[in-house]
Amino acid sequence: MRIKSLIILSMTSAAALIGLVGGLAIVTQMAATKSLGLTEATNVARELADTIVFKSSDGSPSLFERPEALREFLELQHHRSLRDFLVVDRNKILLAHAADEDHKVGEKFDHDLGNEVGQTLVDGIPRKFSDAHEANEILAVAIEHPKDTIVGAVLLEYDPLLRAAEQRTNSMLWLVGLGAAAAVLVAAAFAWGLLSRFGAGLSDMMRGMESLAKGEVMTRISHSRKDEFGQLARGFNTMADELASARAHIEDIVQTAAEGIAVLDSDGKIASVNPAAAAMIGRRADRIVGQDWASVMTMRDPRGAEFAGGRSPVEQALTTGRQHQSEVRLTKSDGTYVPVIASCSPLSRSDGGLVLTLSDISELRRAEVVVNERADQLALLNRELHEKSETTTRLVKLGELLQACVTFPEAFSVVGAAMAEFLGGLSGTVHLTSASRNLVEEMAHWGDIRSSATQFAPEDCWALRRGQEHVTGPGMLTPRCAHITENGKKGYVCMPLAAQGETLGILHLCEPNAAEKPQWLAERQQILRGVVDTLALALANLRLRETLRQQSIRDPNTGLFNRRYLEETGSRELRRMERSGQPLVIIMLDVDHFKQFNDTFGHEAGDLVLKQVAATLIEHARDSDVVSRYGGEEFALVMPGSSVEEGAERAEALRQAIRKLHLTHRGRTLGTVTASFGVAAYPEHGVGWAELTNAADHALYDAKGKGRDRVAVALGNAPGERPPIQLVPAPKSS
Ligand code: GH3
Ligand code: MG
Ligand code: MG
Repeated sequence: MRIKSLIILSMTSAAALIGLVGGLAIVTQMAATKSLGLTEATNVARELADTIVFKSSDGSPSLFERPEALREFLELQHHRSLRDFLVVDRNKILLAHAADEDHKVGEKFDHDLGNEVGQTLVDGIPRKFSDAHEANEILAVAIEHPKDTIVGAVLLEYDPLLRAAEQRTNSMLWLVGLGAAAAVLVAAAFAWGLLSRFGAGLSDMMRGMESLAKGEVMTRISHSRKDEFGQLARGFNTMADELASARAHIEDIVQTAAEGIAVLDSDGKIASVNPAAAAMIGRRADRIVGQDWASVMTMRDPRGAEFAGGRSPVEQALTTGRQHQSEVRLTKSDGTYVPVIASCSPLSRSDGGLVLTLSDISELRRAEVVVNERADQLALLNRELHEKSETTTRLVKLGELLQACVTFPEAFSVVGAAMAEFLGGLSGTVHLTSASRNLVEEMAHWGDIRSSATQFAPEDCWALRRGQEHVTGPGMLTPRCAHITENGKKGYVCMPLAAQGETLGILHLCEPNAAEKPQWLAERQQILRGVVDTLALALANLRLRETLRQQSIRDPNTGLFNRRYLEETGSRELRRMERSGQPLVIIMLDVDHFKQFNDTFGHEAGDLVLKQVAATLIEHARDSDVVSRYGGEEFALVMPGSSVEEGAERAEALRQAIRKLHLTHRGRTLGTVTASFGVAAYPEHGVGWAELTNAADHALYDAKGKGRDRVAVALGNAPGERPPIQLVPAPKSS
């Protein structure tokens, strides 16, 4: 119920209460007055009855007994009290009266319709009744004389008393009525006054509150009043000031916020947007407000796909009334878009709606892209580093393997096996320049394609000519090497194998799909260089080692193996023959009177003789034979698998060949060269190397002793089996 209604109700209730209390008082007073009037009338009637039957002590008759006196007495009372009196006997017969009405003495009183008088005459109880004829109130009181003997009754009119009481009551009723009316008027006046003051203040407050609720924060209430409403108005105005200031502050924040903020009503219409939101949407703020959100902004999922029906964060928040947040693409009409985090927070007010916050994460995404690029670069670098590390490890392994190789064939078998893996499955070859430097020969090959001749002249290769890498292929102007056997549609590279200042040969590679893979070489450049350097160094080392080895096992003057090599090889061959059950022959020879050559023609001529003898030995030797210079002008020839007879034959053939040498030095003929031979064989002349060489040596000295230029065969182990020294008869010198 409204306060105004309450005030009116309270005031009306108060006035009604006052009237009710007054009315009750009047009714009570009326009842009391009536009762008092009756009592008084009864008392008067009793006194009259007692007076009527009173007998003085002198014995004079009572008034009852004297009708005339009684009538006078009654007249007197009537004048005095202005009321009617009647006296009836026991039979209701009128004895006397003092009344204006038409009553006659001696007649029966019949104005009591209910025979009230008759009843009182019986039981003595006073009764009242209305005189139907006279229209007044009558009281009947019994006359008793003596006591308890009813002889008659006094009837008296008690209306005047009653009327007086009623008059008093009526005047009081008027007073009370007027009082109640006055009270109601006063209450109404107060209520009006109260309402006019209270209502005005209340209306002001309500108007202010309603305006404030509508968002009109500049609303103020007049606070000139001195009452409580004035205080309330001041409080209200202070609150409105604070609200306005807070709102201005919030508006400042919203207007300057980097986040886009839009308020949507429950129907999805945009109630307000801040500049940042308008910028992100790509439209002017005044063209956005009032529009349906979906008609001014296009939201797509982070990958640019449309949201399924009702799945966008705004729709979800509007339908569920709960907060929703997700990343979206805010796409503009020109197709460009801004990645944003869209947060939809439903408003708690009754008419619903929500606040849509748009946080631009373009920078974040850009930063992410940069970070991802960096991460990719890092991963690439890492991979490259890893590959390099792997390549380095493999190169080191290749280097170790190559360093472990003792011979060129070993090294080239390693190269042939490893290169295909190293160079990504490309086919290729390694060519070495011969010692004579006029031929380049293939030493190793890998892969399915053969794109180079196996042998060619050094000038056929541009890499060897220029001493640097030479690349050619489809779309390249560089000339193709002459040693390339392919038609030129493939890609080729020749890389010189150079180490320790010497170019040993080339590494040749072929890429069959060079046209589709222009980067084929660049991709492998690093590893290719590593391989080439490693290989070149290993080959140079091998060549050096070979040279050193040759130097250590060969005699530099004659090119024959030296004695150390002979002993190593000879004893090894001896064991091999032992295992295979084959014979072995050793021929030792010494140039006869060699000192004379030195002495006669000089040391150079002596060296020439030695060289020619060595060449003769090489000419007569098989591949499996070992020809060596045993020392000074002594030579040895080991013939694995040959019998003593074959050895003797070979020695004889050699002897004759040496004898046939015609040597000249500096234009001078050196004369006939002869040599003496000692032949010993396994197993006939010894089973050990020392034993055999001793036997051959002895045979040689025997041949010397017998006159030189002859062959002597050592004695067999079984005595008597062979002569101690078998001399092959020397032919007559020509
Ligand atoms: P014989 O028939 O008894 O073997 O007599 P010979 O002169 O051949 O033997 P001798 O041992 O008396 O002399 C060998 C000489 O060979 C001595 C040495 O100066 C010479 N000589 C050894 N090695 C070389 C060499 O490499 N070059 C030259 N020019 N002379 C050498
Ligand atoms: Mg000699
Ligand atoms: Mg000698």
